[in-house]
Amino acid sequence: MSLRELYQEVIVDHSQNPRNFGVLERAQYQGNGHNPLCGDRLTVFLNFKDDKVSEIKFQGSGCAISTASASMMSESLLGLTKTQIESLFDKFHKLVTSSLDGGNDSNDSGDLGKLEVFAGVGEFPARVKCATLAWHTVMSAIKGAREVAKTE
Ligand code: ZN
Repeated sequence: MSLRELYQEVIVDHSQNPRNFGVLERAQYQGNGHNPLCGDRLTVFLNFKDDKVSEIKFQGSGCAISTASASMMSESLLGLTKTQIESLFDKFHKLVTSSLDGGNDSNDSGDLGKLEVFAGVGEFPARVKCATLAWHTVMSAIKGAREVAKTE
């Protein structure tokens, strides 16, 4: 199975059946994100215990890619510290944007695990902002920003 096929299969699966979809009442951290290019809107809720993500949920409406990305991100962030989230965000961002300039396989995408299927987002450059919206939203939430996170 090619990366592209795997990517499409994962997107369809997670967008039709998103994991951790819903609201966390009285969440410690909450962020809102909006991708005006596509119309995707997300709210992400996080709770930490012992400095690690103990609960994460998201809700919102958006395209298949933004929903699938939020769903997979929510699975990946459980158990991580804020510092680890920031480092994973950097890697994910590099992964989805480096495909735009010719696909450099030697990039340091290290322990992205299942998230590596998002390298396939390079096949659809207009969708990079959809794939990163949930991440921008989480970063804004854990930094305590009150304004809506924008992908611009
Ligand atoms: Zn979108």
